[in-house]
Amino acid sequence: MTEQLRTLSQSSLQDYSDCPRRFELRYIQRLTYPAAEAEPALENEKHQQEGEYFHRLVQQHLIGIPAEQVGKLANTDNLQRWWENYLHAPDLRGLAQRPVGGDLGGLYAEATLSAPLGNFRLVAKYDLIAIGGGKATIYDWKTYRKRPKNDWLHIRWQTRVYRALLVQAGAHLNGGNPFTPEQIEMVYWFADFPTEPAHFPYHADQYKRDWDALTKIAGEIRSASSFPKTDEVSKCSFCPYRSYCDRGIRAGDAADAELETAAEELFDINFEQIGEIAF
Ligand code: SF4
Repeated sequence: MTEQLRTLSQSSLQDYSDCPRRFELRYIQRLTYPAAEAEPALENEKHQQEGEYFHRLVQQHLIGIPAEQVGKLANTDNLQRWWENYLHAPDLRGLAQRPVGGDLGGLYAEATLSAPLGNFRLVAKYDLIAIGGGKATIYDWKTYRKRPKNDWLHIRWQTRVYRALLVQAGAHLNGGNPFTPEQIEMVYWFADFPTEPAHFPYHADQYKRDWDALTKIAGEIRSASSFPKTDEVSKCSFCPYRSYCDRGIRAGDAADAELETAAEELFDINFEQIGEIAF
């Protein structure tokens, strides 16, 4: 059933863990969204677009375009606030506040890594990997309206996949030597909560546990003969596939939905650009 599926990502794994049926509809059948993920729908859509645009602004800045120039493109209230927060965040010193013309060595914005995982390729697109001082820091920008709890973030597939994949497939960013887990840290920076980033260091035992879990879930997906609906009906309130499942018409609150249903489009990744270890 999954023969056509080539890649797995943090988003698809999260969907599979949350609801196998959603995984099937989104990644195997590739159905477009028939229902609004959250209410109010228009406002939610605008917030999502602003979030994507904010990522582009930061990326432009991190590849060397001066802050004054990029800042002119922050043309909505949300974008202006997020941009100002980014520029003045204490935890982003050295990134956001580096001098014009400053050294960009060691900054990999919008980097994509991939490694084999069972019969699949595990793929992740990073907002930023910053290498320096013998460390590799993964940054992920979030424009959530609510600051999620660290415990919730800690067990998300994103936190596990991004760190494990950097160990597995990041040697080309480290002079040909794989990073040790202890060299890696992941930082979620919240544009609306700029002084409350979430830090997740990494250790060898966590890496082993994560890679074992990834191998196991990839095997489970490959051999799955059915993709049942989740028993947790609360997950359906934010799911765009409600109408396929007879799980309600009304969408859930937007601020909750954005924590639950974020999906990445990885179908169009250019594999020529992906750094990876050899098979
Ligand atoms: S509506 Fe519920 S059961 Fe259906 S795909 Fe979404 S989360 Fe799964």
